Amino acid sequence: MPACAAVQLAYSRHARGYGAEMDPHAQPVTAHGRFPDIGPNAVELARALIRVDTSNPPGRETVAARVLQEWLAAHGVESELVGPDPERRNLVATIPGRGDGPSLALCGHLDVVPAGEPEAWRHPPFAGVLDEDGFVWGRGAVDMKGQVATRAAAFVALAQSGVTPAGDVRLIAQADEEVNTAGVGMSWLVDHRPDLRTDWAIEEGGGRHIVLPDGRVAVMYGVADKALLPVELHARGAGGHASNPGAVANPVLVIARMLSALEGAPRRRDLVPAARRMLAGILGADAGWEDLDALVGAAQVALPELAASLDAITRTTFTPTMLRGSAAVNIVPDHATCRIDCRVLPGRSADDAVEELRAVFAAAARAGDEWELVPAPSGPVGGSASEPDERFTRACEAALERVDGRPLVMLPTMNSFYTDASHLRRAWGTTTYGLWPWQHTTPADYQAGVHAPNERVRADDIAYAARWHLELLLGMAAGDA
Ligand SMILES: [Zn+2]
Repeated sequence: MPACAAVQLAYSRHARGYGAEMDPHAQPVTAHGRFPDIGPNAVELARALIRVDTSNPPGRETVAARVLQEWLAAHGVESELVGPDPERRNLVATIPGRGDGPSLALCGHLDVVPAGEPEAWRHPPFAGVLDEDGFVWGRGAVDMKGQVATRAAAFVALAQSGVTPAGDVRLIAQADEEVNTAGVGMSWLVDHRPDLRTDWAIEEGGGRHIVLPDGRVAVMYGVADKALLPVELHARGAGGHASNPGAVANPVLVIARMLSALEGAPRRRDLVPAARRMLAGILGADAGWEDLDALVGAAQVALPELAASLDAITRTTFTPTMLRGSAAVNIVPDHATCRIDCRVLPGRSADDAVEELRAVFAAAARAGDEWELVPAPSGPVGGSASEPDERFTRACEAALERVDGRPLVMLPTMNSFYTDASHLRRAWGTTTYGLWPWQHTTPADYQAGVHAPNERVRADDIAYAARWHLELLLGMAAGDA
């Protein structure tokens, strides 16, 4: 069967709902020949994956992995489910390459964060609703079943095209990204399946379009992640009756004093290479690098929509999130705790970060205060950076320009949060970019539902990203990279 016919067969079998009215013969959508619009396929798959509740904990991603496996099989693509926990398998599929170019993995996690109270949602979180305004709703629409679906749709289109890629192309849909402590997802894959290693990988995040100060449109892609180190602050005292506070040492007040000092502590900037690249991309390479505060301030003025993240990626952050004191209002506890979310810049020492925090608290402590700072015994999670690879970046950029129909530049960024890219970079040395391009959903809509109710993404963006992935795969196969 000619390649194009095969893809069209898949399209007609699965095109229902959004965009199905489009004639697949009418629009050659790639620069590499006539391909039907794979967007409707991706939208339907995204909705099917959202309908499987993979809230983590407990995850139970195998059910979603099977949905994906059956969908791939229906398109003639074989895959395997792998992993140490039968309820938490990872899906892996490979299109063998000619062996004369870099291998590439398209990755995404199948677990989601819990949906919370269903009443807070405009549409039920696990219904996969496509509304009249063209939004796909549900937990995982953005983070990241919608993204997984676009990778799978492009992967299938490549498999059916008959085009042999230069290097192996892999699809990986992994478990346990959101909690990431069970050792069943990407952390397991990199350690137990080294045969799956690729030179390059696309992971989650990135893809936002922004207008640079000089008027060029840039698409952000993640080349680094910060590490998470949870830290506990403990304060102790004798405790006693709350009616007679002068007679008891109150550890709640010790915690309060220390948190107040933390809020007022000076923000020490630290510029690691990934953040430097991002600032250079925004301000130009000849920006003044001596005064970091002024530099970050200038970038924040130029792009106010990125002000918070520019702050977060140029220092270690300490964010108090959980407080515990007494179980009764009339009892002064003998022990109070605060958990602090500490994010360490890639390449920097977590021990140094803890010492920085300890110094702030020590300065705020009074004589007689009993306190200690305890970092999580498991140590920091994540924290990684990829040296951008010019060929990989150009391949991503060329595919974007074809889909967007306008010149674009790529802006390397750092995630202030952990992603599974850290495992790929650490264990395999894989050059990993966080990139899922989107442009129809507003940034406010896109962000509003991530780890919150009413997660949603425009179906247009699922279709757009699916086309971008296919352009990337075809471009790489044609030797663009
Ligand atoms: Zn995610």
